[in-house]
Amino acid sequence: MSRILIIEDEVAIADLEKDYLEMSGHKVELCFDGAEGAELATNGDFNLVILDLMLPGMDGYDICRKIRAVKDIPIIIVSAKKEEIDKIYGLGMGADDYMTKPFSPSELVARVKAHLSRYDRLVGANREQNDVIEIRGLRIDKTARRVFVDGEEKSFTTKEFDLLYFLASHPNKVFTREDLFKEIWAQDMVGDIATVTVHIKKIREKIETNTSNPDYIETIWGVGYRFRM
Ligand code: CA
Repeated sequence: MSRILIIEDEVAIADLEKDYLEMSGHKVELCFDGAEGAELATNGDFNLVILDLMLPGMDGYDICRKIRAVKDIPIIIVSAKKEEIDKIYGLGMGADDYMTKPFSPSELVARVKAHLSRYDRLVGANREQNDVIEIRGLRIDKTARRVFVDGEEKSFTTKEFDLLYFLASHPNKVFTREDLFKEIWAQDMVGDIATVTVHIKKIREKIETNTSNPDYIETIWGVGYRFRM
């Protein structure tokens, strides 16, 4: 069930919108004041906002801008302002849609449905994206286990990849060679901490422009290594 906020100072219109949206299965909250509505929309947990433009407290354009500064939920403006310029301005403030009064409540319901499902697809698509770390020209794709330096793919062994990913996912933290050995090799029960040094050297050859003055993996003398953010 979607939670919808209606910011509208004309009670009859607000009630009409609410009735229709509730009939189609949404949970609806009403707010009759602009400033209060902006507060609710930015701090509340709503999936979509229906917004009037001429409101006491704060106008709809400002509310729209405030919501956009913190949230990407769909915003539908429903306003008596019919001029093209108002529409263009509203969409420019980040609204997703603009309807003029008087409006057909069933059309509003249809547009709400369309915007909610488009937004779900968008959020869903982002959720499925690979787990990637990108720092300066270095791109480490954990899901695909691939490493790119300035767009060029470099081939990594399993341990080299694990070590690089571990360091890069804990940036600016210093690890001793013992820490790293335990983290990456402990389960293998073979090798020793010199392995760490060898692997760091190999990783640097792949990702650093100048291995004697590394940009990513720094040597902290007497302590260990640190991935520089
Ligand atoms: Ca109004």
